[in-house]
Amino acid sequence: MPAPRTVPILVVGSIALDTVRSPHGEVRGALGGSAIYFAIAASYFTRVNLVGVVGEDFPDEGIRILTRRGVNLEGLTRASGKTFAWSAAYNEDFSERTTLETTLNVFETFHPRIPAAYRRSPYVFLANINPELQAEVLEQIERPRLVVCDTMNLWIDFQRAELLRVLSRVDMAFFNADEARQITGEHNLIRAAAAIKRFGPRRVIVKKGEHGVLMSTGRSVFSLPAYPLDEVRDPTGAGDAFAGGFLGALARSPRADEDGCRRSLLYGTVLASFTVEGFGVEGIKSLTPRAIAKRYASLVDHARIPGQDGDLGVFSLPDS
Ligand code: AMP
Repeated sequence: MPAPRTVPILVVGSIALDTVRSPHGEVRGALGGSAIYFAIAASYFTRVNLVGVVGEDFPDEGIRILTRRGVNLEGLTRASGKTFAWSAAYNEDFSERTTLETTLNVFETFHPRIPAAYRRSPYVFLANINPELQAEVLEQIERPRLVVCDTMNLWIDFQRAELLRVLSRVDMAFFNADEARQITGEHNLIRAAAAIKRFGPRRVIVKKGEHGVLMSTGRSVFSLPAYPLDEVRDPTGAGDAFAGGFLGALARSPRADEDGCRRSLLYGTVLASFTVEGFGVEGIKSLTPRAIAKRYASLVDHARIPGQDGDLGVFSLPDS
């Protein structure tokens, strides 16, 4: 059998020290940030080249977690000052998150510099950061095969023009449901995804949290439920880990076509489910291929009706 195709992924995004309170407890100054959740999740599938900035206070343990996952840290800069700090609290049923603090620190003067060795990474993920910085990454990369971006409500509100410029230059885009509605003004998510597609990306992925995900190409829509969990501890970073699982699996797929994307969405779902089971990156920092495969099989099984393989089970109904 031929060895599976795997391509490295360049990720640029935030690296943070997060303080998070949920009904299940609290963590302070924990490893977080969009690029971190993405990189750890994707590292189970392929080589990840990380670009980001940390301050002098960034703990060695953070570096150890990334190194153990084999993440390439050549593009990690340590600047004088403190690491980007973010803090948030979830309400009783996780339906709302209140951001308590966003302190940019070393992020304030950060401009991504892509090391020469990373510039030809075939896959590029522009994790959630200011779209101006995402655009700076686009200027430095050389002939990527696939560019995917993520964003957040802040940039839709305050950097809309720059974000639209980035969207016009990417192949795929991730949004959560609220963001998709916010940027398009469409309440219906199928319509919202189609409207985002008109901004540029040929494939749009809308994350609906515990209600799963939908992917639209304009011509086709694929919809997948979330992995059913009986306890969520901390949903922070689930979207970024979802993207990491998705793009990592796509990097191992024979083709980045509709089938490859659908299968990769299942892996995204699996990585997101591990993320929300623990605080910070606890749930994903030391997974095994076996645990990932087991949950993938179980996710498939959740939607399968025993004995009906190959038979859609459509009743033939009497004429009325
Ligand atoms: P999510 O749960 O997908 O919204 O991602 C949460 C992560 O995003 C946390 O680890 C934060 O450190 C990071 N984050 C929060 N606000 C920002 C921001 N303005 N820019 C970049 N990253 C952020």
